[in-house]
Amino acid sequence: MIVMKFGGTSVENATAINRVAKIVSSRVSENPVVVVSAMAKVTDQLVAMANYAGGGDAETALDLSRKLRARHIEASTELLGNSKSKAFLADIERDFSALDDLLRGICAVGEITPRTTDNILSFGERVNSKIVAAAFCASEMNAMHVDSRECIVTNNQFTRAIPDFDATNDRLAAKIRPLLSKGAIPVMGGFIGATREGIVTTIGRGGSDFSAAIVGAGLDATRIEIWTDVDGMKTTDPNLCPNALRIKTIAFEEAAELAYFGAKVLHPSTLLPAVQKNIPVLVLNSRNPGNEGTRIVARATHCRNPFKAIAAKKRITIIDIVATRMLGAHGFLRAVFEVFDKHRCAVDVVSTSEVSVSLTVDSNESIPALAADLEKLGDVKYEGRKAIVCMVGENIRETPGVAAKVFGAIADTNVRMISQGASEINITFVVEEDDVPEVVRQLHEVFFADPDPEVFAYA
Ligand code: ASP
Ligand code: MG
Repeated sequence: MIVMKFGGTSVENATAINRVAKIVSSRVSENPVVVVSAMAKVTDQLVAMANYAGGGDAETALDLSRKLRARHIEASTELLGNSKSKAFLADIERDFSALDDLLRGICAVGEITPRTTDNILSFGERVNSKIVAAAFCASEMNAMHVDSRECIVTNNQFTRAIPDFDATNDRLAAKIRPLLSKGAIPVMGGFIGATREGIVTTIGRGGSDFSAAIVGAGLDATRIEIWTDVDGMKTTDPNLCPNALRIKTIAFEEAAELAYFGAKVLHPSTLLPAVQKNIPVLVLNSRNPGNEGTRIVARATHCRNPFKAIAAKKRITIIDIVATRMLGAHGFLRAVFEVFDKHRCAVDVVSTSEVSVSLTVDSNESIPALAADLEKLGDVKYEGRKAIVCMVGENIRETPGVAAKVFGAIADTNVRMISQGASEINITFVVEEDDVPEVVRQLHEVFFADPDPEVFAYA
């Protein structure tokens, strides 16, 4: 069997969903399980509704909900035709009425908890997976909607719940396998799950890719296809560098590194369950299904270029902490990391000296809250408007002098916090945010002037 996951833009309206139906029917003989996101932008709108409701603004929350209902009803009607779909439309209406009840409830209580947030956010995938399944049936495909809340078992860390793989795999075997052996196409929502007690959870924004990997790993898929709206992964952001090339094949480790450092195509933790089982992941374009996209595999093929890609992550803040008290270097670092851990704040790049440590964090993190705790440990300085540039390639292990070539290519740039990852497949450094376009362009020119045709393609 294979898993086919379609992201928000691939299922954003009736036209897109019809395109998806065609793509899936071309793979029926491979026993696809289909995982879908909410329609594009829907999760953001649900977040907004939750916030309005939490702030007591029922009117705005319900107004947004009305628009969302209309969009889903319109797509359903277009996909199914008016007459045949009465019962189906009633079901969608019921879901939106439940959402409205929830929003009113939040307004009444005047407080929104992570648990209720997840309940609200779940509606996007819950409703859209039903619509996609019904649309498949309307195009004579034998699709069956599967409620992800009955398959993906998680802990109760709402908004970033962690899957319980053993329990999930048992459920997947019990719910999905029988459908596949009957020749049906299971269609389920990504991003959502439920605790053992059945309380709905979400596994983190952008989590549908992760869902696809969980399902693929749980059912021993021969392949996982991530369908999006670009032709796979590129050597760099084409908006920064129009000469960006398509990466035909890339190793899991390299792709994970890139995803982490800002390549928006894939969710970072996506790959783990698939890696462990050696399942190849393909990144494909639902608007251009003939393109071969990018194949992510356990071991990369030989490549004559040292790097596969250059990623840049903007909106980075450098935090410098100088220990004022006589904390030994060992105790100091532990104390610092405990603060980041407490705030569940991910640190990207670290460099240390005997008495100080510099770290980078996403500027969106709640820096004031962090600051309050860090200032107990030492003098803290913040510098915003920075960016991380990350150059990834397994081959740099065997390429002497590659760092010299990198920094030679951008010799006029003020470079900070250079780190060559312990994994030794990336060279990462921090620059001014404003320097990113020029830096990326210069590096791309040097390292991809003569691309290996086995690994890179112009289209
Ligand atoms: N709809 C969810 C989000 O926007 C999950 C996903 O699309 O992957 O975060
Ligand atoms: Mg996504």
